[in-house]
Amino acid sequence: MWKLQGHGALIQRLDRSVREGRYAHAYLIAGPSQVGKATLALDLARALNCRSREEMPCGTCTQCQRISAGQHADVRVLSLESRPEGASRTEIGIDEIREVQHQANLKPYEGSHRVFIVDGAEHMSEQAANALLKTLEEPPQQVVIVLLTSEESALLATVRSRCRRLELRPMAVPLVARFLVEHRSTEQSQADRLARLSMGRLGWAISALEEPALEEEHRKDVERVAGLSTGELDARFAYAAEIATQHFGNRARARESLNTWLRWWRDLLLVTAGAREFVYHEEWMESLEAQASQLNSRQVTEVIRSLLDKLDALEDNANPRLALEVLMLGLPSQSGGS
Ligand SMILES: [Zn+2]
Repeated sequence: MWKLQGHGALIQRLDRSVREGRYAHAYLIAGPSQVGKATLALDLARALNCRSREEMPCGTCTQCQRISAGQHADVRVLSLESRPEGASRTEIGIDEIREVQHQANLKPYEGSHRVFIVDGAEHMSEQAANALLKTLEEPPQQVVIVLLTSEESALLATVRSRCRRLELRPMAVPLVARFLVEHRSTEQSQADRLARLSMGRLGWAISALEEPALEEEHRKDVERVAGLSTGELDARFAYAAEIATQHFGNRARARESLNTWLRWWRDLLLVTAGAREFVYHEEWMESLEAQASQLNSRQVTEVIRSLLDKLDALEDNANPRLALEVLMLGLPSQSGGS
């Protein structure tokens, strides 16, 4: 059983390529955070090493189990957190890639394939990425390298072009809710709420279920965005400065904040269009309606366009503070004019 949920067609293709021995030696799995990229990479590692001849990955043979438990000697995950000093570092360095190169040339130790997973491949230093390029150009037999990224454009084009690309998009929100009810015995109302907040990212919904603080943090984010959407300009500028600072230390968190804006304004668009049943933030319907009554759909569309623009610009290393201030200036003022 592949553990990745949804994405049936993609799994079918991969499954066939593993069975027929036509798999690639390098994959790039792209998609938003917590959408299932790491799950898919481990699925692939299990499928490649599984001992079952029927259902690969079977999930129950020693190979599958050791990979799932993170104990398999031939499956290695590199990420910012994979080193003890992880919390403070911002790069995956060349020394780690050299280690990968060294191990890649050794025969698998307990399985049939060595699988190296670089989770957050956009964090590789340029030197590290260039070193990895050599391995990607001439991958040893029995080695598969899987790069995971939520910021594809931050990767070297030369690295991207050496990989077979797989894209994971968010699942439909009702499918996330169904999974939580069926596999995590979640109450329907909580499942629906978390699924909406996850925007179809099952990993996020599961973490929020296990760690209620995450939902609380999200709730605070939404309240701030709701307040600032009608707030004074100096409060908005202070916020822009804060997110810009955050962007230097924790890009994922900064992007998550902008995604909260995007969800909020998407909801405003739905409310102005009279499609209330599809909003993400049902609990905030009163504020949404109050704000929507001051706006027309053209104004809302412009803000959404500007938000998407700024998200792109930040990926392309624009000056975050400037980009965010422009965004804040472009928000319609409280009276409804812009
Ligand atoms: Zn197995």
